[in-house]
Amino acid sequence: MISVEEALDRILSRVSVLGDERVPLTRALGRVLAEDVDSPLDMPPWPASSMDGYALLSRDTQGAAADAPARLAVAGRVPAGGMAERPLRPGETFRIFTGAPLPEDADAIIPQEDVRLEGGTLLVPRPVPRGDFVRPRGEDMRRGDRVLDRGRVLSAADVGLLATVGRSPVSVIRRPRVGILSTGDELVDLGTPVGPGQIPNSNSYSLIAQVLEAGAVPVGLGIAGDRLAEIEARFRWGLGCDILISSAGVSVGEHDFVKDALARLGAEQHLWLVDMRPGKPIAFSTIPQDGKGAVAAFALPGNPVSAMVTFELFVRPAILRMAGHGRLHRPIVTARAQEAIRNPDRRRGYLRVTLTPTDDGYRARLTGTQSSGVLRSMVAADGLAIVMGNTTIPPDSPVKVLLLRPNL
Ligand code: AMP
Ligand code: MG
Repeated sequence: MISVEEALDRILSRVSVLGDERVPLTRALGRVLAEDVDSPLDMPPWPASSMDGYALLSRDTQGAAADAPARLAVAGRVPAGGMAERPLRPGETFRIFTGAPLPEDADAIIPQEDVRLEGGTLLVPRPVPRGDFVRPRGEDMRRGDRVLDRGRVLSAADVGLLATVGRSPVSVIRRPRVGILSTGDELVDLGTPVGPGQIPNSNSYSLIAQVLEAGAVPVGLGIAGDRLAEIEARFRWGLGCDILISSAGVSVGEHDFVKDALARLGAEQHLWLVDMRPGKPIAFSTIPQDGKGAVAAFALPGNPVSAMVTFELFVRPAILRMAGHGRLHRPIVTARAQEAIRNPDRRRGYLRVTLTPTDDGYRARLTGTQSSGVLRSMVAADGLAIVMGNTTIPPDSPVKVLLLRPNL
């Protein structure tokens, strides 16, 4: 049995970043940028007005006052999307609108709220400093500026920036395709009545959801009964994926054929038993593919909570690594135990807890029974408290909690 850290090392040292693909900007949110982006333009491309008002020469307003306004002739008009027809001359002003280019030789804007018109004459009641309400050319970016570095996870603002520089389609790291197989003779899928001795297949669906949550593309491989050939055949369908995940059939029971099926596909197994609860039996292997690297295969335990927790700890970081992310792990916070948190097992516990924010950090409390079959305690969980084997965290003591909910 190896530690969680050792298992992660063995996994992450065997998965690498996938190639890139081009996507339209409207699909780029959350993807990892695969190219450096330099601006081909100045933005704004010219000095622009940031107000609806009047463009003028600052020096024409020197000494102006409410009782002695500067008087300027309104000699032109620059709408957004237009250009001044000629440069501004001393003693003149042009009507101008937000976003419009400053007329040549103008150097300031006075907002329309601050002035009065008398026929074709503008009355300016105060001096207007140079540069007032003018966005200088290149204020946002200059041509040649590196505006985004490869490896960034694209945010909404990044997408706007890419649109500004005209980068669509944009090159991003491909999303891993993840084949998901449930195994077990007792399983029935959605739409089929659950007969005696049978249970509904939930793992396929929680795992599909977790794969989506991790930003990857789930590929359903259905349910295989507890027969070597059946499991092998369904894995084979999934060999076009980057990752294969199975659940159940990975323990030491007489009906546990997953590892044998993987071996038949030429898999090299890198680990099997990990010192954790829930989820001790988890196998990780790689299946070499002619000329195109290897498929990473995770054989997860069958219990619904064990499958989800081992996905969180091992599969999610592998998916994120493949997709080009730098931050592979969920954040870990220090909370205080609201009441005693007991791990009676010899193995390291990842115990389901709720987290309540207080002025002085989070309070953690077990969600109830920690049986690996109780999916509802996972439904209630905000995080997983990490507790060493045979240990009790007394009330009020600190405990490390892996955050499952990103926007808690
Ligand atoms: P196993 O690892 O095959 O011994 O399965 C462990 C437990 O998980 C058994 O109680 C199974 O019935 C249950 N189980 C296995 N696969 C699934 C699944 N796809 N959905 C829900 N429960 C499952
Ligand atoms: Mg089974």
